[in-house]
Amino acid sequence: MAGLEQNLRAVRERIDAAARAAGRDPAAVTLIAVSKTWPADDVRALAASGHRDFGENRVQELLAKAAAVGEQPVRWHFIGQLQRNKAAAVARLGAVVHSVDRLSLAETLSRAGEGQGRPVDVLLQVDLGGPEGELGARGGADPQEVPALADAVAALPGLRLRGLMAVAPRGEEPRPAFDRLAALAERVRGDHPGAAELSAGMSGDLEEAIAAGATLVRVGTAIFGDRPLPCGEIGQHQPRESHQ
Ligand SMILES: *Cc1c(COP(=O)(O)O)cnc(C)c1O
Repeated sequence: MAGLEQNLRAVRERIDAAARAAGRDPAAVTLIAVSKTWPADDVRALAASGHRDFGENRVQELLAKAAAVGEQPVRWHFIGQLQRNKAAAVARLGAVVHSVDRLSLAETLSRAGEGQGRPVDVLLQVDLGGPEGELGARGGADPQEVPALADAVAALPGLRLRGLMAVAPRGEEPRPAFDRLAALAERVRGDHPGAAELSAGMSGDLEEAIAAGATLVRVGTAIFGDRPLPCGEIGQHQPRESHQ
């Protein structure tokens, strides 16, 4: 598993360099290793080496991996579209939910947080748009609706509003989109000081996201390798040869 740790370290170095270039403290940027489609053994190996933050986008896969990882101190981040009937299971794991994009989902998560006596940390996912036909493809609230959604979410007793999340539009320069997200985040933070997190940046655009102020970057491919199936699909596949 040395390959995985090396890849993780290389990504961490990219993050640190990007933070320094932006005049920011590298420690203010958390790396989330997006382990979707990869086996629980990979999570266990990185967790054993001291890495804490992992991201998943499918509930069943998250639950299976969380069970397999067992007692290791892992913090899960749920970054995919979430159905309300699966919200409680995600809340039970103590996962940070990055993908809240509607009040009905927030209300369900809040009830779960209240029921378990531990609030659920949530970020609001923002739809930054994109090429025609892709609008809404990855979820996210309309930016114009985000301040009102933030007010409503912050008022729910079982949630803690931690910030905003977005995916850069495909086929566009990421920086202007990240800057729009950061401006929106600043506005939300003005009313909700606890909402200080900005979840943005993936393998291909983490530098631009950090320059724009990202505090949580979600990196899969640059750590684990190319996923064998389209983004988010669950499948059985052979372990990577390069990491054996
Ligand atoms: C898969 C995924 C990532 C990681 O993308 P990579 O390009 O593999 O780094 C980040 N964010 C979300 C929402 C994802 O679904």
